[in-house]
Amino acid sequence: MSYAEFYRRSIEQPEAFWAEQARLIDWQYPPERICDDSRPPFTRWFMGGTTNLCHNAVDRHLKERGGQPALIHVSTETGSETVYTFAQLHREVQRTAAMLKALEVAKGDRVLIYMPMIPEAVFAMLACARIGAIHSVVFGGFASVSLASRIEDATPKAVVSADAGSRGGKVVPYKPLLDEAIRLSRHKPSAVLLADRGLAAMDMVAGRDHAWRALAEEHAQAEVPCEWLQATDISYTIYTSGTTGRPKGVQRDVGGYAVSLAASMKHIFQARAGETYFSTSDIGWVVGHSYIVYGPLIAGMATLLYEGLPVRPDAGIWWSLVEKYRVTAMFSAPTAVRVLKKQDPAYLKKHDLSSLRALFLAGEPLDEPTGRWITEALGVPVIDNYWQTESGWPILTIAGGVEPKATKFGSPGIPMYGYKVKILHESTGQELTGPNEKGVVVIEGPTPPGFMQTVWGDDERFVNTYWKSVPGRMVYSTFDWGIRDEGGYYYILGRTDDVINVAGHRLGTREIEESIASHPNVAEVAVVGVADALKGQVAMAFVVARDAAALDDPAARLRLEGEIMKRVDEQLGSVARPARVRFVTLLPKTRSGKLLRRAIQAVCEGRDPGDLTTIEDPTALQQIKDVASQ
Ligand code: ATP
Ligand code: MG
Repeated sequence: MSYAEFYRRSIEQPEAFWAEQARLIDWQYPPERICDDSRPPFTRWFMGGTTNLCHNAVDRHLKERGGQPALIHVSTETGSETVYTFAQLHREVQRTAAMLKALEVAKGDRVLIYMPMIPEAVFAMLACARIGAIHSVVFGGFASVSLASRIEDATPKAVVSADAGSRGGKVVPYKPLLDEAIRLSRHKPSAVLLADRGLAAMDMVAGRDHAWRALAEEHAQAEVPCEWLQATDISYTIYTSGTTGRPKGVQRDVGGYAVSLAASMKHIFQARAGETYFSTSDIGWVVGHSYIVYGPLIAGMATLLYEGLPVRPDAGIWWSLVEKYRVTAMFSAPTAVRVLKKQDPAYLKKHDLSSLRALFLAGEPLDEPTGRWITEALGVPVIDNYWQTESGWPILTIAGGVEPKATKFGSPGIPMYGYKVKILHESTGQELTGPNEKGVVVIEGPTPPGFMQTVWGDDERFVNTYWKSVPGRMVYSTFDWGIRDEGGYYYILGRTDDVINVAGHRLGTREIEESIASHPNVAEVAVVGVADALKGQVAMAFVVARDAAALDDPAARLRLEGEIMKRVDEQLGSVARPARVRFVTLLPKTRSGKLLRRAIQAVCEGRDPGDLTTIEDPTALQQIKDVASQ
């Protein structure tokens, strides 16, 4: 079947299409109804069906592949490497489920997981899924204030955490951050379960804190069967990465999510049971939920959980893991590839990468030079995919498992089955159908399985935030700006709030960044619009140069600045030319590697940058401050 036909069927006969996909997972009772869209924009999938995510990820593989690897944990931080087979994972998850039950966690209770990339984090997620508790994983190492706001929002009965994480060899104690967060929060969890890695001392609070190891011993051989849940029950909540303000608790179901992952593993990621999947993300992000934990395991693949930097002990570490574990599909982010691009390419060539079939990238625009570099370096297809925490799985990409169409540099691809993607005029709400017409990328309901059900505890916020932003139409706004070319390929031009208005011309920051990034001496760039008395706004570019040392010479700096401006003039026209180009050694990013344009803009305009709890390295923003006024 061609992809066009496959897609058409998903849109024209969604019930038949998704009923078929639903057969990719195990059900206790199959669904009675496929889709209920009677109360838009809320869509419910697979009503009457009962299933369990943990059963589909673990138990159902025991018979056929109980002895095969399920979870491979590698930490270059602590120098440990452990492989759990499906049977061993089953044991660990049952043990953890028994521990949660002993802490009086029951179906529907929230469990907040604040952990580093260690196996216990995965055990805890699967154990929650097993007993029907709702997990809320918060990125490990978040500061107390952001953790506290998430504890208040999720009101967990229990928190699962650890003594410490480690990053680049530096121990980050979690327990004091957690204690402080609980102190700050109005809600107090009744139990805290703590894995002790022997990295940092912990002050245990009597009656509340429990040591993982001791409790695990008590429940070593526990048998905890999977709780059969309604397809529409809640599996988890997750907070968005917080690039644009107050985090929202994205709430997801059980059945729709399981089906969407099973389907995407097959149709998009070309998964094959028994092989190894390596996603370099973190369990604190949606990619970690969908494509470190649930997706690969549901597909019967081993999943590689990696704790460490991509450049330590050297820039070959990922590729050595690909070689060692015969990884067939890898998932990463452009920001990580740009880090590797700055290193010696010999690291890539050193390893046997013949097992690898494709590299999938998501999270932010993949600029053409980075895309070309990694494609040539690896010699396998590099497939960009565009989606959001809210969607749970790719919205735009190339479905390599159906009919692999050609990829186009700069475009994440075409709408995935089940998604009615449209481009609308931002202020009139009119649909833009012509090629390369710029507008807001929206999704028309009903949204496909796996998509967020609502904002946790706040249906109104769900409707008002996402479904009412385009005048006159009840459509889901991605808040991304995009175009579609003659061939139907989409291009994401940036977030709707990243559009610059220079003397009446509307420009996507992404377009200017692409142009600047094509300069051979540019490693990374961020462009923001800054208020200007004359023009309304002007573009300002912050550039990380490949050869930063050479820029110590002011003349060289001036020369590069001139070259960059000339390039933008030639490619986009002088209206897009940045008013100033400034050099920094580091750009402010979230911990998930996304540019904090909003904060850069605020600093440039002399405003307060707002909530910075998700920032990776605050010194980056200081650099912006220092150079912005020069
Ligand atoms: P918040 O919603 O809290 O501001 P966030 O949007 O950064 O945070 P995510 O859901 O992790 O949180 O990121 C989704 C966004 O990332 C998309 O809306 C888009 O702006 C960007 N994005 C993701 N993948 C791609 C891609 N392949 N190409 C371009 N942009 C992408
Ligand atoms: Mg978002």
